[in-house]
Amino acid sequence: SRLSRIDDADYPHAVEPLAEVVGGALLAPLVGGGEVRYANLDYAASAPALAEVADYLAEILPYYASVHRGAGYASQVSTSLYENARSTVRSFVGARADDAVVFTRNTTDALNLLARCLPRTGEVLYLDLEHHANLLPWQARPHRSVVAADTLEETVERVRLALADGTVALLAVTGASNVTGEVLPVAELAALAHAHGARIAVDAAQLAPHRRIDMAGDGAGQADIDYLAFSGHKLYAPFGAGVLVGRPDWLDAGAPYLAGGGAVKDVRLDSATWATGPARHEAGSPNVLGAATLAKAAQVLAGLNPTAWDLHELQLRSALIAGLTAVDGVKVHTLFADHAGGAPGDVTGGGTIGVVNFSVAGHDAGLAAAYLSAEHGVGVRDGRFCAHPVLRRLGLPSGSLRASFGVGSRLEDVRRLVAGVEALVSGGL
Ligand code: PLP
Repeated sequence: SRLSRIDDADYPHAVEPLAEVVGGALLAPLVGGGEVRYANLDYAASAPALAEVADYLAEILPYYASVHRGAGYASQVSTSLYENARSTVRSFVGARADDAVVFTRNTTDALNLLARCLPRTGEVLYLDLEHHANLLPWQARPHRSVVAADTLEETVERVRLALADGTVALLAVTGASNVTGEVLPVAELAALAHAHGARIAVDAAQLAPHRRIDMAGDGAGQADIDYLAFSGHKLYAPFGAGVLVGRPDWLDAGAPYLAGGGAVKDVRLDSATWATGPARHEAGSPNVLGAATLAKAAQVLAGLNPTAWDLHELQLRSALIAGLTAVDGVKVHTLFADHAGGAPGDVTGGGTIGVVNFSVAGHDAGLAAAYLSAEHGVGVRDGRFCAHPVLRRLGLPSGSLRASFGVGSRLEDVRRLVAGVEALVSGGL
């Protein structure tokens, strides 16, 4: 049978979860009756919380108090949770010592904040591969876009040409596509941007949950990234917290993102002296539990064995692609002909993360996703993935299906999806 191609026996190690996630034992009710373990293949939208993160949340919840403002014990604990979270995030992404770590609501919020702090002169350059969060904030600023080529090599060359006249202040690029999972050569793009007097901002919403990042560029990754944004809810932590890490000068010169308490040094009735540093953009009572749990998730991921992590991801991805492409009418979509190059654990480029995009000939993506959920207990995403230009570019203007996985995933999840798609094609719907 086709499924024998992805049998456990094909792998030297059974593909078990790398880390325990909350909800891993959830049961999904089937329309035909009965229940099965829910196969969550929608990690790229929001990853389930790590069990360690959930335990940590329960542990710190009693210390619910406002930060920076109280002498009480709970307030002191909350303040140190919040500030320690900043330093954990700093080391998780290998930031420079003077980089600001600003807590935001999510990646979208972080990129909007950066867009507000951009110097008035100078353009933003972005590719047509972006999630809307890394495209729409720039449309309000002087900008140019580059249409990616069919290979990464030629795409990098197009970026080089676009940077050549020296008018670009910021190259904004995704670290890994949320549509196809392909990883961009961030280090190479960073070097190009810097050679032309520009900075680089990386939307790491998808990259951070899958790859080690070295912003400062003094470790193995050699990335040298000026700004980095990502979200807690895609990093196995609860919703509501994200982060912008990066060079402090633009952030300190930009208008405060929100006006309010905590962001000021001194206030008079008609004027204010604004704070510098992260506080400038964090007015109001911050999301202490969100920041602390995001940092906890970062700490757990940093502690995973990198080789086991890469292997886990590669095995699931290759099993999924082998299984899907063996089904009649299924097509897996990628952007670049040369994306497979590059070591999986290397942020310098190439390779893919645990995201696979596909369509099934003759089947509407939305109906197929609903069928997979109702009849097979598999959760995938369908639609245009907040990346309309990417879907147009792939020739899929009405959308496709996306299966995505992470550290809590197992081979069984992938097999269930493949079996569901086989059933769909052979008359299930
Ligand atoms: N960038 C990418 C590549 C994403 O995949 C997403 C979420 O889907 C975002 C940005 C936006 O993240 P959030 O909704 O957490 O702001």
